[in-house]
Amino acid sequence: MLPTLYKDSTYIDHYGNLKTGHIAIQDDLIQSVYPIEIDPLKDHRFETVVPSSSYLIMPGLMNCHTHIPMVLFRGLGDDLPLSEWLHTKIFPLEDKLYNEAVYFSSLLGIAELLHNGCTFFSDMYFFVEEIAKACSVAGIRANLSLGLMDPKGDSGLHQSVELYHQLKEAGNQKISFFMGPHAPYTCSPDYLEKVVMTAEKLDTGIHIHLNETESEVENIQAEYHCRPIELIKQVGLFKRPVVAAHCVFTSEQEQMILRDHTVLVVHNPSSNCKLASGIAPVNQYLKMGIRMAIGTDGAASNNQLNLFKEIHLASLLSKVSEKEATFFPHKLFYPLLCQNPASFFFPHQTYGIQPGGRADLIFIRKDYSHLFPQENLLSHLMYSAQGNEVEHVMIDGKWIMKDKQILTFDEKAIQTEFTKIYRDIAKC
Ligand SMILES: [Zn+2]
Repeated sequence: MLPTLYKDSTYIDHYGNLKTGHIAIQDDLIQSVYPIEIDPLKDHRFETVVPSSSYLIMPGLMNCHTHIPMVLFRGLGDDLPLSEWLHTKIFPLEDKLYNEAVYFSSLLGIAELLHNGCTFFSDMYFFVEEIAKACSVAGIRANLSLGLMDPKGDSGLHQSVELYHQLKEAGNQKISFFMGPHAPYTCSPDYLEKVVMTAEKLDTGIHIHLNETESEVENIQAEYHCRPIELIKQVGLFKRPVVAAHCVFTSEQEQMILRDHTVLVVHNPSSNCKLASGIAPVNQYLKMGIRMAIGTDGAASNNQLNLFKEIHLASLLSKVSEKEATFFPHKLFYPLLCQNPASFFFPHQTYGIQPGGRADLIFIRKDYSHLFPQENLLSHLMYSAQGNEVEHVMIDGKWIMKDKQILTFDEKAIQTEFTKIYRDIAKC
C-alpha cells in the first residue's frame, strides 16, 4: 500500500522544534517529512491525502510510572498520608482483586491514557497477564512489571520469569517486561540481589520506587547505615537499566549514582503533593544531566492519568519551590514526555517525527480558544493545554482513537463492567 499523506500539518520535529510540513506514513513508520513549501503531490503518489492544518501532530506521550488498574480505587482513601493510606485502604482492597477486576480496570485506565494523548505507559502491579491482555485489546504500547515484595518469597520471582517468557511467546511487540521490586523498604538486600540475578538472566530492566518519603529513607539509614540508593547500588541493582520512581529525597551522593548509571528518574508531582511526601529536586536532576521523565503514579494517589496536568504541575512546583521563574521552562515538555523515555525504553529505535520514526502519534486540535495565539504552541502545551484537545491517537500506524472515539474497544461497555466490579470490591 502507498503511504498516507498528512498535509499542511503543524508538528514537533525530532529535535523538539515546532515546524509546519507534510508527513507521509507508511505501515507502522513515518516514511517522509516534507517542508511546507514543497508540494509532495507533484512527484510522489499517496494512497490518501488527509488535510491536517487543524492539528498539532507530535509523538504520543509516555507515562513512565503507573499502577494502571488502581483506577478502581480512585476517590477511596483520599486525604491520608502514604503509610496509613497503603495499610488501611489500599492493601485490604487489593486483597479482594481478581482477574476480571484487573482486566476491566486496566481497560478503563487505558481509555483515560488515550484520551489524554498517551501511547505508552510503564507499569508495576499484580495480575500482569490481565493487564497485558487489556493492552493487547487496546493496542497500546507498555512496559509491564509484577510488583514484588520480600514477604511473598521467591514465588514472585518465579512468576516474573514465567510472565517474561509468556509475554515473549505471545508475540505482541508492543509489550515489554521489567522486574518490579516494590521498594528497598519492602524488599531486603538479599531479595534484591535475587531480583538482579533474575533481571540479568532475562536481560531486562528493573522498575522500583525509590526515596519517596523522608521516613522511609530514615528507616533504611537506621537499619543499614546507608541511604536507599547507596544500598541498592551495593546489591548491584544498577547493573541493569532502572526506572526509579519518585526520588523525592536524595543526597548529593545518591544523585551522582543516578547520574552515572542507566537510570530513568520518574517524577510524580501530583502523587507526591497529594500524599504530602514532598517536592523532588528536579532542578538539581536537570542541572546534573540525570535522565528524567514524568509519571502519574496510580489513579488512587493522583487521581488522574493526565500527563498534561502532571507536567504543568511539575513546572510550577519547580519554579515556586526555589522561587526561580526560569526553572523548568516549557521547552521541557517534549524531552520529558517523549524523547527521554523513548531513549531509555527504545534505545535502538529511530524516534520522533523523521523518516524511519515509529508512527505512534497524537493529533491535538489547535483551534480551541485557550490555544490562541497559535504561534506559541510549545508554550501552550506546557501551560494551557488540558489533555482533552487530543482528538486522534495512532499507534504503529493504526488508528486507536479517532475523533475522541476509541476504536479498539467499546469504552461505554467497559465503564458498565467496571462499575459492577467497583460495587463488588469497594462497597462490601
Ligand atoms: Zn507508585
